[in-house]
Amino acid sequence: MNCKDSDKMIPLFLTDQLRNKDLYKFLNHVNKCEECMEELTIQYLVMIGSSILEEGKSFDLREALNLLLADANKRIKRWRVLYALSYVAEALTIAAVVIILMMVVL
Ligand SMILES: [Zn+2]
Repeated sequence: MNCKDSDKMIPLFLTDQLRNKDLYKFLNHVNKCEECMEELTIQYLVMIGSSILEEGKSFDLREALNLLLADANKRIKRWRVLYALSYVAEALTIAAVVIILMMVVL
């Protein structure tokens, strides 16, 4: 993913509309790219922070964004485990079919 792709995904990330695969790529990029993290922070402040500030609540932007990113990272970790398990399950199914076929043939 490049910065241009990442930039397009920021509003989707902030409104929780990214699919897991895109979210994974997006998080990987913004965690490494200072400019995109900066852009994410700015857009977060504009989209979400300003409405909270309008309500007169005090608000720690960095803390709130860190929480959002931590939640997204947790979601992606769970998704990757399930993704890996689905491959294991598929491999086991194939092995079971092969064993059954061998029992029938032999
Ligand atoms: Zn970038």
